[in-house]
Amino acid sequence: MRPAESASISSSAYDSIIAEAEQLAPQTGVLDAHCHLGSDEDGSSLDPDALLRALDKVSRSARAVIFPLQDPERRPAYRVPNDRVLEWGRQHCDRLITFCRLDPDDDPVAEVERCLARGARGIKLHPRGHDWESVHPAVPAIFAVARDAGVPILLHAGRNLRSMGALLQVAPQFPEVSLVLAHAGIADQAVLTAGLMHHPRVFYDTSCFSPYDVVELFARVSAERVVFGSDTPYGQPADGLFLAMRAAAYAGLDARDRGLIAGGTMTAVLDGREPLPATPPRLARVHPVTGSLVRVGMYVMMALSAVISTPTPVPGRVRSWIELARGVCRDSDPGGAGSALARIDGLLNVAEQLIIRQDTHPRRAILLLHAAATIAATEPLPA
Ligand SMILES: [Zn+2]
Repeated sequence: MRPAESASISSSAYDSIIAEAEQLAPQTGVLDAHCHLGSDEDGSSLDPDALLRALDKVSRSARAVIFPLQDPERRPAYRVPNDRVLEWGRQHCDRLITFCRLDPDDDPVAEVERCLARGARGIKLHPRGHDWESVHPAVPAIFAVARDAGVPILLHAGRNLRSMGALLQVAPQFPEVSLVLAHAGIADQAVLTAGLMHHPRVFYDTSCFSPYDVVELFARVSAERVVFGSDTPYGQPADGLFLAMRAAAYAGLDARDRGLIAGGTMTAVLDGREPLPATPPRLARVHPVTGSLVRVGMYVMMALSAVISTPTPVPGRVRSWIELARGVCRDSDPGGAGSALARIDGLLNVAEQLIIRQDTHPRRAILLLHAAATIAATEPLPA
């Protein structure tokens, strides 16, 4: 895992992704709800200048919510990484908004109060493993601090959790607390979206490896409850915005509503404004798909899995999936999917070259594969 800045790619296939994200997103007001800064135990790291450069690819005015990674220096209580990120937020207060990260087992209430006094605008909680099989005793106290301070909580709800059912016991007791469930709530998406449907302030961020998770989100929750997030440095703002905007457009959201996803709704959350009324999900639970795009999307996801599941991907293994995906793109009778398949093939071609060259930055291949999977999952866009 390497810093996000090494992930820049120059290829016309990828340039068209950035251009389309720009065209679908609003000109101003983009706010990425989910970015990490600092260092992680897994070797990932990102400094504020690299994040600002990555945000510049979206727009010069794009902003981000920042919080620590799982920092090797997190004990005690995430104090050191929280102070570091608070300082970066102060230095770039026009574009970066700092949340403090808490460890529920390590004095979280004292730490959140300390950080709020130093300018934190929200709380990041990252439960792991069995943490939500029952309510962690510290969690109601953390929610109470958030309620009293009027700040949101962003809660990891992605990989490495077994279930999140216990959240249904806590969140409804705190209807005043804006709760952003990260990664489209995939740890328990059906349970959370149904169980928290009537909570007035539960939101879902769009940071997902699988674009199908974000598409399904638009079939499960109100569009007014979806916010763009990238999980940088594991994702990238421009790439994450492409997914959020493509999925939103696929679900039929117009430019105004896409502007809410891109930053309008999260800005209202941070400002403590009342969220817009929740409208019914925009996408039908059953929607038609093109068989060849399902096939290519599946192989691209398998290639993506082969890249991300080891620190140094095995080129032959990744290539075998890319070759199958490109086989789907060779279609003399593509129905309505010809231009999407051609675009996907262009991205896969560049990804394959990187893999063959054993490119030292596997993140570049990840961005290309992620964009290809996003196209496959979100076709056709309404005219
Ligand atoms: Zn994250």
